[in-house]
Amino acid sequence: MNYNELADVLFPDIHTTREDMEERFPMRDLPEGAVVTRIGPSPTGFVHLGNLYNALIGERLAHQSGGVIFLRIEDTDSKREVPGAVETVINAMSYYDVYFDEGAVVDGDKGNYGPYRQRQRKEIYQTIAKWIVQQGKAYPCFLTEEEVAAIREEQTANKADLGIYGKYAEKMRSLSLDEIKAKIAAGEEWVLRYRGELNSDRITVDDAIRGKLEMPRNFLDFIILKSDGIPTYHFAHVCDDHFMRTTHVIRGEEWIPSLPIHIELFDILGWEKPLYCHTATLMKIDGNSKRKLSKRKDPELALAYYQEEGISKDAVWEFLLTILNSNYEEWRMANPGVDYHEFPYSLEKMSNSGALVDLDKLRDVSKNVICAMTAEEVYEKWYGWCRQYNEEFASLLEKYKDRTLAALAVGRGGEKSRRDIETWKQACEFMSFYYDETFKIEDDMPEQCDSDMVKAFFNRYLEVTDYNDDSSTWFGKVKELTEEFGFAVKPKDFKKNPDAYKGSIVHITNMLRVALTGRSNAPDIWEVTHVLGEEMARERLLKWC
Ligand code: GLU
Repeated sequence: MNYNELADVLFPDIHTTREDMEERFPMRDLPEGAVVTRIGPSPTGFVHLGNLYNALIGERLAHQSGGVIFLRIEDTDSKREVPGAVETVINAMSYYDVYFDEGAVVDGDKGNYGPYRQRQRKEIYQTIAKWIVQQGKAYPCFLTEEEVAAIREEQTANKADLGIYGKYAEKMRSLSLDEIKAKIAAGEEWVLRYRGELNSDRITVDDAIRGKLEMPRNFLDFIILKSDGIPTYHFAHVCDDHFMRTTHVIRGEEWIPSLPIHIELFDILGWEKPLYCHTATLMKIDGNSKRKLSKRKDPELALAYYQEEGISKDAVWEFLLTILNSNYEEWRMANPGVDYHEFPYSLEKMSNSGALVDLDKLRDVSKNVICAMTAEEVYEKWYGWCRQYNEEFASLLEKYKDRTLAALAVGRGGEKSRRDIETWKQACEFMSFYYDETFKIEDDMPEQCDSDMVKAFFNRYLEVTDYNDDSSTWFGKVKELTEEFGFAVKPKDFKKNPDAYKGSIVHITNMLRVALTGRSNAPDIWEVTHVLGEEMARERLLKWC
């Protein structure tokens, strides 16, 4: 067979050569050791935590080394494409401060190595595919879906390796040029298959996260181009990461089984391979066992979940860094308050067993992150979230900005900062009592305080206390009232001698908390009173009188 002629029959419109492509995408002029990497999401509209996880690694490696991270849209599967999905990915990433030096942008491309949407790179793939055909290493395959399914059935029945290879490939491999021309002229669809070699060789790949990986060399006649001339993931990955001059391929471990195909392609093309970094699958604890996070069952796999729940992006970063690098928590303890971008992220410290996404842990991280912020910072971030997800609350925050800032300052700063706020969504619940519009009585008054007692107590309280009392004067008065009403000032006295008292100061302060905040568990009463202001606090107490 004359392979040059075959190549022209298959790709009559391709007049570019692989040398042209090399020229079009020159080596990058970057400092020694600079990492060039990418994320390659498919535009399905679903951005998952794994995308951010890999993006974060890439972002750190690229920007720590003076390199480049770019966004490539892997849209070879048009059936799965959703309109607006590119924008969704870009927005999700920029929300987490992952900025791409180059790549797809909403309405086009930024950078010299594009196009950055795979379907627009057809000419590049076909140029390389044509070259492979010219080497006699690829052929058109006209097998129909039914024929491929029948082969698969036969292989399954015989427990043979699945796929097209050896005797299963013979019929298509041996078509003559005239037969091929006739089939094409008759409008038969074809895919381009690589001409694999049956062999018992092994390949090794040094994975930057997993160390040496060893596996059988490819023997399959895998598909290079699908019938619409669009490449499979494998071929697109090899061409793109070569011409985009990627040095590090960071992707999920589910791609490890495909490595033999990728290595085969890099070898036949004589191209230098990138450093593979296969990251661990995201897992969760379910009952007594660990399992993969599932799109169907686990809302936390979607990146949108974290935004919708109002989990601070700093908390998500912090949390991902703790699962990404085993020494992160130690570093954080030694460097409180330091920007996480300062952490020297390294691939060597990555775990290669499943990465555990533990939402309780995330909430805990989130509490710490928010607890370390100033009241102004909390206000700005919370308000930003409310504007998008809870407009009503956003207007409260606007209307009562000073009060909100004062409320956020309660118990903040110092060693024992309150860790009440864990997400922005929960902050709307937790802080609701500071505004009459959202205030409601949630807890019951302590049973030690019946309604007559409540009424009598608040009347006396309003008589005795003065808004201008400082905290300790005020507390002295509360203690006096506690005694006056037959309650123990020291809870332990009440415990020791329950018949001698109606209750203890705990019940008295709970009563005040329920009246002022609607809850028995709330921040310091004196402080809350001063955030609400004299009038509002008084009104809330008067309701019980
Ligand atoms: N489109 C692939 C995916 O979503 C990207 C894998 C890669 O980064 O090479 O899994």
